[in-house]
Amino acid sequence: MVKRKPKKRASTIRPYNNGSLSESELRSKILAKLRQFSQYWKPAKSVKAKTKKCAECWTVKWPFDADHINSAVPVEGWTKTDDLFLWYNWNEFLRNLFVEEDWYQWLCLDCHKQKSQRDNKQRKLNKEKLWNKV
Ligand SMILES: [Zn+2]
Repeated sequence: MVKRKPKKRASTIRPYNNGSLSESELRSKILAKLRQFSQYWKPAKSVKAKTKKCAECWTVKWPFDADHINSAVPVEGWTKTDDLFLWYNWNEFLRNLFVEEDWYQWLCLDCHKQKSQRDNKQRKLNKEKLWNKV
């Protein structure tokens, strides 16, 4: 095993896992595991068998990605914010993530990339709007 030089990270607050993880680090770890598990999620695969075209540009451009029609992290922000953990509403997140076929669409890689960029940009704008209100 390769020993890695510990990163210097004194300024971040690490309240989790015996003081070794920050909020965002713990969230990333949880999300990585969930993403791993979601690769075995059957509806995302079975929708592939039924779809032949990209839902946005209507072309047949293999390969395709299964895309959540409603993003697991809502672009407009969490509907309920009274019980967030690590700044996430996990009930809402998991409900959005593990959906059945009807809630998936098939996108070509270009359209999927564009949609993600669009969503991230909008998410950032919405977050800024929210913070400016406080
Ligand atoms: Zn497309």
